[in-house]
Amino acid sequence: MTAQGHRRLVLLGGGHAHIEVLRLAARRRFTGGEILVISPSAHSHYTGMIPGFVRGAYTESALTIDVDWLTRAAGGTFQEGCAAAVATDGRSVKLENGDVLECDLVSADVGSEPSGLREVPGLAVHAFTARPIARSRALVAAIELVIARAHERGTSEDAVAIVGGGGGAVEIAFAIRARAEAAGVSLPLTLIEAKPDLLPEFESAMGRTAGRVLRNRSIDVLANAKATSVTPTEVLLADGRRVPSTVTVWLGGAAPVALTRNSGLPKDALHFWAVDSTLRAISGAPVWGAGDCVALRDFPWVPKAGVYAVCEGPVLEANLRAAMAGDTHRGLTLYHPQSSYLSILDTADGRAIMRWKGHVFRGRAALWLKSYIDSRFVDRYRQGS
Ligand SMILES: Cc1cc2nc3c(=O)[nH]c(=O)nc-3n(C[C@H](O)[C@H](O)[C@H](O)COP(=O)(O)OP(=O)(O)OC[C@H]3O[C@@H](n4cnc5c(N)ncnc54)[C@H](O)[C@@H]3O)c2cc1C
Repeated sequence: MTAQGHRRLVLLGGGHAHIEVLRLAARRRFTGGEILVISPSAHSHYTGMIPGFVRGAYTESALTIDVDWLTRAAGGTFQEGCAAAVATDGRSVKLENGDVLECDLVSADVGSEPSGLREVPGLAVHAFTARPIARSRALVAAIELVIARAHERGTSEDAVAIVGGGGGAVEIAFAIRARAEAAGVSLPLTLIEAKPDLLPEFESAMGRTAGRVLRNRSIDVLANAKATSVTPTEVLLADGRRVPSTVTVWLGGAAPVALTRNSGLPKDALHFWAVDSTLRAISGAPVWGAGDCVALRDFPWVPKAGVYAVCEGPVLEANLRAAMAGDTHRGLTLYHPQSSYLSILDTADGRAIMRWKGHVFRGRAALWLKSYIDSRFVDRYRQGS
């Protein structure tokens, strides 16, 4: 403890769960100590709206959450920085710049990175990803360049490949198609998925519907196709095929970020932090975590999706609040993930594909609902809300 009865809680990352912790702490301040938030940027960006940003439907500010402001509203301090490792006993955090911060409690909500980022040759140099937002901004600039070149030459000599067949990848493919179409450019677009089916995280009806709409929008789908390297003009597949691509977007799955991999806390087989149902490290160290960076020991089936990170927020807040106050008498709050959730994929043609309790529906109402839910989510974290 930094002073008698005074604890220091360090929140790493401004992810979905931490912004909820801060929002609730702004409504009712934590007692027992101080909150320090460390994140590489004072702003977080809601990924559910990134495909809309790539399409040009949203400005960057529409999906921006001011974490610095939220932290101050919660009575805490924001510090720009990137955590490199958390001590096994949870009593200190090492930053990438070498600084070491002493603390009493740590919570990480630092997300994940696309799998293969470190291993696949050429990926880090030649491919775009969606996060952080600077990478989406760079992707938009690359698509605009392709469009400008096509206008100049009267035809497009470029091609786009998207690696990954999950919800984010499918939405980004539709978004790029819509952006090029709006500019009057016909652009060859290929979606490359290693598994046999699209949208493996959902029931097969969702994948079939998405596959049909992708074909209707002239987006080629290569399933059972494992991308093994990226060059400036191609994506190479494990079976030897070469997919022409001058703009490659890599959205293949979720892998742990360096902080998660490099800290000596207990992990699952994929190196995500293992937490119990109170979202605390299973070692019992005063370290908590939520969102993509953790593996729930009691619910290993939970996918890496923002909706789960959002629902973990109030549980994390309750347990951090109790730990900060030194309240060992009250029962801790347990997280019970929902087995199914509403999913809506924007097909960037004024409609969306919606899945709810096993039913799949496509239409304008689905897109309206998605836009409403997304903007209401971001608004919750704005001043005056
Ligand atoms: C294009 C796309 C669309 C998607 N759409 C959806 C959707 O519609 N619905 C859905 O449920 N899921 C969606 N997902 C998945 C979703 O984005 C992730 O599951 C979600 O963002 C995970 O949230 P999180 O809170 O774990 O972390 P994030 O929201 O990724 O936040 C991580 C935070 O940690 C910070 N950080 C990173 N490293 C460090 C470090 N070392 N030290 C300190 N801070 C750090 C980051 O800057 C960021 O603020 C989508 C993903 C993509 C790529």
